[in-house]
Amino acid sequence: MLGPVLLAAARSDGIRRAVSAAPVTRPVVDRFVAGETLDDSLAAVRSLNARGLEVTLDHLGEDITDASEALRTRDAYLALAEALEAEDLGVRAEMSVKLSAFGQALPGGHDLALANVTSVVEAAAQAGTTVTLDMEDHTTVDSTLAILAELRERFPRTGAVVQSYLFRTEDDCHALAGEGSRVRLVKGAYKEPATVAFQDKHEVDKAYVRCLKILMAGKGYPMVGSHDPRMVAIAQDLAHRGGRKPDEYEFQMLFGIREAEQERLVSQGHRMRVYIPYGTDWYGYFMRRLAERPANLAFFLRSLATR
Ligand code: FAD
Repeated sequence: MLGPVLLAAARSDGIRRAVSAAPVTRPVVDRFVAGETLDDSLAAVRSLNARGLEVTLDHLGEDITDASEALRTRDAYLALAEALEAEDLGVRAEMSVKLSAFGQALPGGHDLALANVTSVVEAAAQAGTTVTLDMEDHTTVDSTLAILAELRERFPRTGAVVQSYLFRTEDDCHALAGEGSRVRLVKGAYKEPATVAFQDKHEVDKAYVRCLKILMAGKGYPMVGSHDPRMVAIAQDLAHRGGRKPDEYEFQMLFGIREAEQERLVSQGHRMRVYIPYGTDWYGYFMRRLAERPANLAFFLRSLATR
């Protein structure tokens, strides 16, 4: 019940100011965000890599309002790519980007986002790694997939994300299941209308399994983005039955969530990639994590009560 309220709050400037200023917020944010600086994120990369986990880094930010902010996002990712090149980790550390932070929603935003993200994908290739385009609300999907198609002409390993809560996603999975395609399947984290998305969690889960089957049966590289033990077990079973080797798919989970499970999967020989968000603009990301799970919200409320 609270989920939709929190997802609406994720887009409210007033609530953003109040939550961001509350002194108790910081320690709770730290559970889900690796830190504010590039150095913080690199420390998290080293610690996770040392434990056999791979990573994808997200410089936090979304929904910007002018083109200069888009350039700041691009520059932050260029600095990240340079740092990753110096660490020489290859695809053990890749990058995730939100095109809204590259200007996608501004006038002429499709071309602006494409131009800005192209420099980042070039820098990633230079660093020996890849970029995955996160998926945001449903109004952005066509533009994001069109940008993906353009990027893949020069950088075929650029990754995409599809969200099982959208009615369209099974078709998108068929279109994206070809040779060389890297696709992260998630359930979806935004508040979407009933005209475009399943509202019932059970329907979203069933759609996730249908999409998993398409991606696992395809020729691409499925990236299973879920903390749900049932989805993880079904993915393992489908990969096994389809004869996929451990380096022909991977699991992905968010920083700070189900860490013991992340390490358990690695110890079983699976490839596990942790999504590491870092930066100062953590509000939207943080609110989506609270909305996802009562236990995350309870953790936040307990920290308020124990002050
Ligand atoms: P849920 O359906 O939320 O939970 C199912 C079960 O999983 C729970 O009952 C519980 O058993 C277990 N579980 C879940 N969370 C926890 C927890 N904190 N602790 C213990 N157990 C837990 N969404 C987008 O819209 N766009 C993106 O680009 C995107 N990228 C993502 C990248 C990664 C790597 C991941 C993991 C998620 C991403 N998401 C993205 C978020 C995603 O859409 C879901 O909102 C989020 O993952 C919650 O769904 P779930 O499948 O993990 O499990």
